[in-house]
Amino acid sequence: MTIAILGAMQEEIEPLLEFFGKYETIEYAENKFYTTSYKGVDLVLAYSKIGKVYATLTTTVLVEKFKCEKLLFSGVAGGVNPELKIGDLIIGTGLCQHDLDITEFGHPHGFVPGGEVCTLADESLIAIAKDVANEKNIPIKTGIIATGDQFIACNDKKCFIKDTFEADALEMEGAAVAVACKSLNIPFFVLRAISDTADMDAGFSFDEFLKSSAKTSADFIISMLDHMIAKN
Ligand code: SAH
Repeated sequence: MTIAILGAMQEEIEPLLEFFGKYETIEYAENKFYTTSYKGVDLVLAYSKIGKVYATLTTTVLVEKFKCEKLLFSGVAGGVNPELKIGDLIIGTGLCQHDLDITEFGHPHGFVPGGEVCTLADESLIAIAKDVANEKNIPIKTGIIATGDQFIACNDKKCFIKDTFEADALEMEGAAVAVACKSLNIPFFVLRAISDTADMDAGFSFDEFLKSSAKTSADFIISMLDHMIAKN
């Protein structure tokens, strides 16, 4: 079994590389991929760079070149649901693209023919995450994560995304990973810890909480790995 762990930014993958300690670095497609093994399971880690295009590229490379059979995404997001506070964890049950818009032709926001508005994450990976959260008494939410190639720091845009997609959190990669994994038949899971609330203070908040929230997410992913390996 080879499992991919993907982030968007170095800060999201760094805590994992520190935890695993020893790894090999392979350069491919203008990016770095870190291979290691943990309790007998092969892992490939990478940070894609920000945005949907890089996230799609990196996901595809993880599957096609590195033969990863499951993918876990770890990172930070802007909170949309007011119940989500800085540092809280959210599991994306469905991922949608808030900036995909051919509504001019009568299609709903986030839809293109041949695709779907919302791509659902793997239920068994979500169940594992819920088990881990229960065992460790970590509060965790599930909900819709909206993705787009924009850093959202504006209440109007945030409200549009909340109202149109019933989104609980927003970020810039999740739906791209979801579409690539779904198309390639790879079970995937997207976890995010809140770094900001996508309002006018989002930039400051993001800078302040990126590292701590990225670590919160990475720590949870390690617990999930432990659980997945123990169950195998
Ligand atoms: N400070 C960075 C840019 C960060 S972009 C730089 O200068 O390079 C924000 C990243 O965190 C993206 O990877 C995105 O997935 C996530 N994110 C967190 N809060 C977000 C928000 N409010 N809007 C969009 N993406 C957000």
